[in-house]
Amino acid sequence: MLEGVVQIVCPHCDRDNRIPRALLRQAPPCVACRGELFQGRPAPIEDERRFDKHVRHSDIPVLALFHAAWSSDSNAVRAVFEQAGPRLEPYARLVSVDGAALPDFIERLKVVRYPTLLLLHHERELARVSGAMNLAQLLSWAGPLIAGVAGRSPLPSPMGHHRPGSPRRG
Ligand SMILES: [Zn+2]
Repeated sequence: MLEGVVQIVCPHCDRDNRIPRALLRQAPPCVACRGELFQGRPAPIEDERRFDKHVRHSDIPVLALFHAAWSSDSNAVRAVFEQAGPRLEPYARLVSVDGAALPDFIERLKVVRYPTLLLLHHERELARVSGAMNLAQLLSWAGPLIAGVAGRSPLPSPMGHHRPGSPRRG
């Protein structure tokens, strides 16, 4: 990462965008498609190539939710993940992946349960967690990890002093 410049991959057309860190919160539109670089919600990713591009080219960590339609916990966490978007962007890129549609990809990433959240930065897996969780649990798990990548604490404190129970690790 160049000092003061952050590479962001467009969630619409996957073009690399380099923007000054100071403008991250008010990111200009994509240089290629003019779409919003941050929409406050997860971007659906439906193929492995796109996923890899985001993970390799993004200077911000990628938080990926792997879900399956038959998993009721998946559906609940998908809703929570949507709510987490405005809290975690622009310090992370949130993407959601229908794992059932991509069996080879899921095997490569060793996702064995749904839902699974995977946090990656420059292709390195930082953390993963599986199972049901509410918004406070998701933010208390992901927030410090994402803040650690940013090297400071970019996130507002959504939970106050209350520490919810940890979701199941897996
Ligand atoms: Zn674009």
